[in-house]
Amino acid sequence: MSNDSRSDKPATQVVQAGRRPEWTAGIVNTPVWRASTILYDSVAHLRESAGRDTHHRLFYGRRGTPTQWSLADALTELEPGAEGTFLYPSGVAAIAAALLAILSPGDELLLVDSAYDPTRGLATGLLKRFGITTRFYDPMIGAGIADLIGPNTRAIFMESPGSLTFEVQDIPAIVAVAKAHDIATLLDNTWATPLLLPAIALGIDYTILACTKYIVGHSDVMLGSVTAGPGRFAALRDTSFQLGQHVSPDDAWLGSRGLRTMAIRLKQHGESALKIAHWLKGRPEIATVLHPALPDCPGHDVFVRDFRGPAGLFSFVLNGGDEAERAALIDGLAHFGIGYSWGGYESLAIPVDPHRHRSVNRREHAGPMIRLQIGLEDADDLIADLDRGLARFAAARG
Ligand SMILES: *Cc1c(COP(=O)(O)O)cnc(C)c1O
Repeated sequence: MSNDSRSDKPATQVVQAGRRPEWTAGIVNTPVWRASTILYDSVAHLRESAGRDTHHRLFYGRRGTPTQWSLADALTELEPGAEGTFLYPSGVAAIAAALLAILSPGDELLLVDSAYDPTRGLATGLLKRFGITTRFYDPMIGAGIADLIGPNTRAIFMESPGSLTFEVQDIPAIVAVAKAHDIATLLDNTWATPLLLPAIALGIDYTILACTKYIVGHSDVMLGSVTAGPGRFAALRDTSFQLGQHVSPDDAWLGSRGLRTMAIRLKQHGESALKIAHWLKGRPEIATVLHPALPDCPGHDVFVRDFRGPAGLFSFVLNGGDEAERAALIDGLAHFGIGYSWGGYESLAIPVDPHRHRSVNRREHAGPMIRLQIGLEDADDLIADLDRGLARFAAARG
């Protein structure tokens, strides 16, 4: 693919990205290249290779083969302005590597209060042990983040929309403050993916995906990625090499296979989820629907301004009720599985209790909360299932 014929349309991009002719060797998908040892022609060849940059060059299995490079390159191509991407064996491993690439003992991290809970665990666990302090901030802080910056602040971590509660952050406002203070910015972009929010173009330095979710798309592989902005890739790669990070070619291959259909999957997830969110909003058993495309969701105006469309994951708050009544709704669902993770083709429902994972702003909610991942089933089947669930909830409430 020559550069000038490259499309900026997501559906075309996910089909073409990363498929270099020298890697695909005439077939459509980059095959699985498995390797630990790479053989050299001579001692001279081995010596010469040892001194060279191993980016996109066979060196030793841990540095990858075309199978991993193809997926990494595809993710870079989806982020206009990005310098490079490194893959990880999970989303959490990606978050850890990105933070460790930037932070040193004595540094302070500003971490959004609505971050994925294991991200909090990393900050209050390993990072703290290594002398890095964390201040949590309100997801709605915007340009007000300037007030939290101290002499040791080195990085600002965002996640938008936030896990469980879906607050949409004002990324451009926070990036502007960070740039003025020479502070690195990181974004967990798992919900939107680069298709709905190209993050490097917004000035983010490191954009992180749990590829486990929409990239893989079939609930059968753990995978993560960090895509670095201009001038940011070398630090990420050095740290990742030192940590020994590596993804199996089989998993990378499944990631690439998922990516090829992601644009159309994401479109359907988004459409069905929005339809269901609107339906839920009209129901008397429900107090609030926390979906970024609906006005009740904090940061809705920012969502409309910055995002290209909705994804398929959101929460809703019941109008009163307790643990058992919430369980009555979820337990009888026929089309929704009960399980963690999301981004696969199947629908999921779980009880969520965000106040357990917040330290800055425990927003009060009218009742218990449920998070839905809307899969690729017919949306009307899902609505009928939820309708029966709400009837069970109402009956349990008496
Ligand atoms: C699932 C998830 C992760 C972690 O990804 P794993 O691959 O499960 O480690 C990180 N961030 C968000 C927002 C997630 O939903």
